[in-house]
Amino acid sequence: MRVLVALADHLGQEGTLTTKYLLPESEIPRHWYNILADLGSPPAPVLHPGTKEAVGPSDLAPLFPMAIIEQEMSAQREIAIPDEVRDVLGLWRPTPLFRAHALERAIGTRSHVYYKYEGVSPSGSHKPNTAVAQAYYNAREGVKRLATETGAGQWGSSLSFAAARFGLHVTVYMVKVSHQQKPYRRSMMQVWGAEVFASPSTRTNAGRKILELTPESQGSLGIAISEAVEDAATHDDTKYALGSVLNHVCLHQTVIGLEAQRQMEMAGEYPDVVIGCHGGGSNFAGIAIPFVRDKMNGKKVRLVASEPASCPSLTKGVYAFDYGDAVGMTPIVKMHTLGHDFMPPGIHAGGLRYHGAAPLVSKLLDMGLVEAVAYPQRACFEAAVTFARAEGIVPAPESSHAVRAAIDEAKKADAEGTTRVVLFNLSGHGHFDLGAYDAYLAGQLEDYEYPSEAVASAMAQLPKIAL
Ligand SMILES: *Cc1c(COP(=O)(O)O)cnc(C)c1O
Repeated sequence: MRVLVALADHLGQEGTLTTKYLLPESEIPRHWYNILADLGSPPAPVLHPGTKEAVGPSDLAPLFPMAIIEQEMSAQREIAIPDEVRDVLGLWRPTPLFRAHALERAIGTRSHVYYKYEGVSPSGSHKPNTAVAQAYYNAREGVKRLATETGAGQWGSSLSFAAARFGLHVTVYMVKVSHQQKPYRRSMMQVWGAEVFASPSTRTNAGRKILELTPESQGSLGIAISEAVEDAATHDDTKYALGSVLNHVCLHQTVIGLEAQRQMEMAGEYPDVVIGCHGGGSNFAGIAIPFVRDKMNGKKVRLVASEPASCPSLTKGVYAFDYGDAVGMTPIVKMHTLGHDFMPPGIHAGGLRYHGAAPLVSKLLDMGLVEAVAYPQRACFEAAVTFARAEGIVPAPESSHAVRAAIDEAKKADAEGTTRVVLFNLSGHGHFDLGAYDAYLAGQLEDYEYPSEAVASAMAQLPKIAL
């Protein structure tokens, strides 16, 4: 009976059970928003792994095309999105924004919950937003091949799709455990024309070194990055592409938040809290950063990054200079880190296993402009199943961290006798991660909290920087 009354109230208020806010293709943003222009203090320098001196554009030239290097260091507020990039984004952008009426009912909240859905892209996540831009700039500068790493396969498949659009070859180093457990992501990359190797591989010095030390290594994102960087650095026609963490990646993802701002206007509401799951930081940065600009201009809005308790770079990591990869080949950046030799616990089902957080997100956290929470995986899958049964979409395990945080924000408001407008980014669907759902439904998933002592001892391995 209570349910019926709630339903009637709901219908009375809204008159509908599904509200989708769609923008026409002409409303794909024409500029990315570069928050570095508005932060007041410059970002920490990026350091050379050998000399530990600040790097200049020429140091990064073996790895990235000049246009990307310029964006990485740019202080320009609005950066134009090339027509060729907008054209490909138009395959699936603007993405829809939904009011989660059915979820609100299912959890019995009076708060309003909205979600931006990035799973409508060809590879099923937000990652093509940057993959398309990176492939375009590389092709324009005459690069023939891109080398990259992938964990669960989301980034590798997104780059494979994007590179195919611009006629580039792609070599993917895929973390060995995922190569074995996620064969269909590998198939997808191969359908789009990529060559895929299980990492650690015997193709690189970095891979061979790890295999010598630990022949049974299941790999890690840090190791795969070392292999891809080495491949790019040792081949003239090849550059490297990274799917998260770096400034230009966060920049390309701002299309998410810029569209969401317009769509919340259509809904006639402004969010009290904006949430994204956090692995390397790109989808969180993408939805949050345009709202951080509002916040700096006096708007009242909270930005919350939701990360796994098993890989808690924002909530337990230290804000320090560290390498981006496992063996110390990449530039050193200042970020929240668990230490570059972090080995993700094998029991964790989803992605989000990188040792560091985006320098940009780390800085926003340090400045108190954003917040972070950490959740154990079972609570996230529980939220994802509730969401799927109400809204229909099966979230990616990564995205489930945002779903959990959104439900908790709504419930907290109920407990406080208030209501909140909650907006979260549903960064992708979970169609390739049903094995993880199987394990959850069978009661086989364990929670694991990464110990603070492990973070403390990893800090001894950080590069020594006199800054
Ligand atoms: C890769 C991925 C993430 C994590 O990466 P971020 O850079 O933190 O966004 C989150 N969700 C999905 C669906 C992903 O594929």
